[in-house]
Formats: sequence, C-alpha cells, structure tokens
Amino acid sequence: MLNIGCHLSIAKGYTQMGYDARSIQANTFQYFSRNPRGSQTRALDLADIALLQHILDQDHFAPLLAHAPYTMNPCSADSGLRELAAKMMAEDLERLEYLPGQYYNFHPGSHVGQGVDVAIAMIADQLNEVLKPESTAWVLLETMSGKGSEVGSRFEELRAIIDRVKNNDKLGVCLDTCHVYSAGYDIVNQLDAVLSEFDRVIGLDRLKAIHLNDSLTPFNSHKDRHACIGDGSLGFDAIVRFINHPKLRHLPFYLETPNENPGYADEIKRLRAAFVE
Ligand code: FE
Ligand code: FE
Ligand code: ZN
Repeated sequence: MLNIGCHLSIAKGYTQMGYDARSIQANTFQYFSRNPRGSQTRALDLADIALLQHILDQDHFAPLLAHAPYTMNPCSADSGLRELAAKMMAEDLERLEYLPGQYYNFHPGSHVGQGVDVAIAMIADQLNEVLKPESTAWVLLETMSGKGSEVGSRFEELRAIIDRVKNNDKLGVCLDTCHVYSAGYDIVNQLDAVLSEFDRVIGLDRLKAIHLNDSLTPFNSHKDRHACIGDGSLGFDAIVRFINHPKLRHLPFYLETPNENPGYADEIKRLRAAFVE
C-alpha cells in the first residue's frame, strides 16, 4: 500500500487533522510544529492529541511528519537566533513524545555568508545539544534546493552533519523531490544513479521520508518553487516511477504542492491509482 498524505493545517487542532486526512484518503500527513513564520506554539491539549493517536492506531497511519518553522536557522550568524533555534527544536521534540515514534523535519539552515563548513559545525552543535538518546522520534534533515546560502543541497553536506552528531542513530533525511531536482540530482532521467549516490554518501537506511512535489523551475535551477503533481518539470510519469521504485515504495510520501485539501485529495487519488500493489 502506498503511504501518502499531504501538508495539513493544524489550526483546528490535532484531531481535526486526523479527520481531514481520512476524508482525503491519506494515511499520513505533515503539519507545522508551530507557527511556520514565527515561533509561537499551541497550548498543549492532551485530550486532542490522544484522540488523534486513536485515529492513527485505528487506521494504521504511517508516521506523521512535524515540520519545524522556516524561521528556525541553526546556523544563523546571530548567536541569539541560534539559541532560539535550539530552544524551539528541543521544545518541539519534547512535545513530539506525546505522539511517539514519529518524524521531525527541519531545514538545516542558511549559512548567511559564514561558509558551509562553519554552518555544518553549528548545525551539528545544535543537534548534539538537543537530541536525547531516549527520544522515540526520528529527526530528519531536509534536502534543500540550494537557493541563497542554504546548506543541505549536496548529499555530502548532510553526511558531514550526521558524522559530527554523537547521538545520530535516529538522525535521518527527508528527500524533497522538487529540491533535489533543482539542486542538480536528475531524478527524472537518472533515478537509479541518484539513489546509488545517496546510498554511497549517506546510506539509504537513513532515508525515512519523501516530500513529493513537482517543480515549477527547470533541472539544476537552484530555485525552490513547488508545482502540483504533473504540472512541473518533473512530470507525472517520473513521479509515478519514483513512488514505485523498489528502494522508495515503502517510504511515507508527503505532498507539499500548492493545493487546498480538495486538490490534495485529487493528487492522492491519482497517485494511489498509479501505484503498483
Ligand atoms: Fe521543508
Ligand atoms: Fe519540502
Ligand atoms: Zn521547498
């Protein structure tokens, strides 16, 4: 079975996301751990979380993916902003333990002129500070497009971060199809070669989740503009080959396409129909 969902709004609480996912035939979803452009978090409502857990158990959902806010930059040049990033991640991971065994995705950060090596050390420092061995969550570094001074558009950069983290047994990667294609990994024409490269550099055992997006911009453009499935430079056929690939088909896929829930429902339906059971 294809494990697929999309980005859902947490505005009406955790349980509502479970209902929304059910209504669009999703068996997983992604949501923001807190305000994506700020840092505020929701009041903790344990009854709401427990009800969602019940839905997840009943319907055998694949792991959910909590996405850290875009404003979180572990390699900011400002030490106050780095401290804020570490505090947000620590709090998010603490809260994630109310829904055990799930995934937490973050953008490694932007080095803002300090250089990739300095940034990699800062990102690893943050992870060494906040990752707890007893945590049940997997923390995932997202593959980035390389726009601006983004870190993480090369597999080698992600490997370098992982290597510097002491407690890295639950540190993995979320591959974003739009981002890697924009970063110069040709998953349309050379998918096997890209996956071999991922395996050689990082190890496919660390690949835990896929952000499934088409791209508005061409191959190797170093832009980050998501398109609906089939409407971009990847195209529907390449995306169908991707979800059916023997090394990928077991993973959870999260759509981050420019859609409201009815549009997501349509994409999920088309992708489920194209998945070879
Ligand atoms: Fe992201
Ligand atoms: Fe993404
Ligand atoms: Zn993106």
